[in-house]
This record gives sequence, structure tokens and C-alpha cells, in this order.
Amino acid sequence: MPEFTDDELAKIRAAIGKSKAARVLVQAPEGFRTKIQNILDEIAALGVEAVFYAEPCFGACDIPYHTAKDLDCQLIVHIGHADFGVKSEVPVVYVEKFSDADPTPILEREFFKVDGAHKSFGLVSLIQNVKALPKVKSWLEDRGKKAFIGVPPAAKIVKLAQPGQILGCNVGTGKMLESKVDAYLYVGGGRFHPYGLLKNTSKPVFWVDMESGKIFDVTKERENLQKRKLARIGQFRAARNVALAISTKAGQMAFAKSAFDLKKRMEKNGKKVWLLTMDMITPDKLTGLKIEALVNAACPRIEDDLIFSVPIINAADAARELKKE
Ligand code: SF4
Repeated sequence: MPEFTDDELAKIRAAIGKSKAARVLVQAPEGFRTKIQNILDEIAALGVEAVFYAEPCFGACDIPYHTAKDLDCQLIVHIGHADFGVKSEVPVVYVEKFSDADPTPILEREFFKVDGAHKSFGLVSLIQNVKALPKVKSWLEDRGKKAFIGVPPAAKIVKLAQPGQILGCNVGTGKMLESKVDAYLYVGGGRFHPYGLLKNTSKPVFWVDMESGKIFDVTKERENLQKRKLARIGQFRAARNVALAISTKAGQMAFAKSAFDLKKRMEKNGKKVWLLTMDMITPDKLTGLKIEALVNAACPRIEDDLIFSVPIINAADAARELKKE
């Protein structure tokens, strides 16, 4: 992980100056841990107390303003994600940490793996690599292909900050291009984001992996994701004892909006439903509960990421299933 740049440090200093904070809460994803003490020391050098919020952080949905308030922090420094639109009672400065890594050498070496029949591409990325997309667009256009970068559509629940940026729970900048592209090129690390495209679009998805320097065709994994989801939906329909989980993360509250109504609808459908709330929805927190299914009214990607002892189904899918009955 590269050091923090002068611009990033200046952004943090400016936000601290503007907020006149005497104490700040700093949070960052796992990958930044080895550098986090540098940031804490930089803040301390300003005569400001820094507290590292050492809980895992997977997105800008996770703004711990309740903790900031409890600890009397006047600013949250959120590293590694772009502003998601979360309403926070404590001001937040977002330090996105853009990478300047160039994906074109990977394209030079590996583009032969992309089906030559594809003439037009939708380009998407996670926030760290989003600045590389114009380079990829030029590279493709120089070779006679068409390439498009979606401008973030109006936010429903989750705001996208940059052209071509996608999140696990919002692939809007890719989805909006679906009718005019033959395939997607996702530039970045990890399967989490390209899987979001697989689940929400029908076009082939190629992953330009900035970590391994390879290109992967992940399209065939779409069928497995769909099969697994259909199996879980079938198990949910048969389940009588169900837990409905809501996360306390500030930016995931929007997913929970319909949870109470959904509970009533499930009960009308003959299910016994218990409401649960927790910060992160993880399998260990179901220990001891006698349930046959878990309905998730939080981050919609938990269903792909974690293995639970009972089938997990997203609240939106559960609502859709109940409508059919
Ligand atoms: S809700 Fe889930 S997918 Fe969306 S930003 Fe948060 S952690 Fe990522």
C-alpha cells in the first residue's frame, strides 16, 4: 500500500483546520492498517488527538458517528472510500486514496483473452482505480473498439462519486450502459465488484486484475451465483422460523427502511419472525438461534461474501417472493 500523498495529508489537515477539531476519529479498511499509524502521528503533530476506530470497514456506508459523538470527536477521517451520501451528525472528510497504477501494460499482454467479437465496452472500476478508466478508453479506441464510462446516475439509496465507479451495492454506472455495450471491463482488485455486475446485468464481464496483472473472464460465474440464489429463495419459501437482520451501520439504515413492514408480511404468510440488529451481520451472531432462514435488511452483498448455517436472502428478494404468493 503506497504512503499517503502530500495532497491527501493536506486534505486531512484542511478538514481538521476547518472543523477546529480537538479530537478526531480515524477509520480505514484492512488494507491501510500498515500505514494508519503514520496518519495518526500526522494528526497528533497538529496538536489534535487521534483515535483509530479499529473495527473492520468495508465501505463508506460505515460511518461510526455514534462512536465519534460518544468519544467527543469533532471530525471523522474516513480513508479509502468516496462519499456515499451517508447523513452523519459528525462532519466526515473522505480521503479516497486514488491509485496511479496504469492498467494498459496488462491490456497489452492479456487483452487477447477478451472475445474479439466484442466491439464496445462499458468501463467500470472501484474508487481506487477509477482514474485509470480514461486511459483504458483511449487504449481501446486506438484499437478500433468503442468504450464508454458511465456518469453516475441520480442516487436512490447509495451515491456514486466518480464516472465509472461501482460499489458492491450499486453498479449504476455500468447498468446504464447495458443496451449499448457488448461487454464490461472491470478494472481493479477483488471479485466482489465484478460479481455485482454479474448479478445486475446480462452482458459478459472481464476483470482486469490490477493485483495479479491478468485478465479473467468471470461471465460463467453468473450462472452459479443465480443457481445459489434460487436455491436459497426456495429454502426461504419453505422456512417457518425466520430471523430478520438490520445493521446499525449508518449508511445501511436505508436498506432497513422496509424491514418492519416486511416482518408483518412474512407473518401474514405464516412465518414466525424475529428481528435482530447488529453492526456487522456475521454467521457467529446467529449461534443458538432456532431459525431456518435469515432475511438480510442490510448490505445486499453479505449473501455472496459469508457462509451462514441457514440460507440467507436479501430483504428485497424476500419482498418480491411474498408478492408472488
Ligand atoms: S452496503 Fe455493502 S456493498 Fe454497499 S458500500 Fe456498504 S459494504 Fe459496500
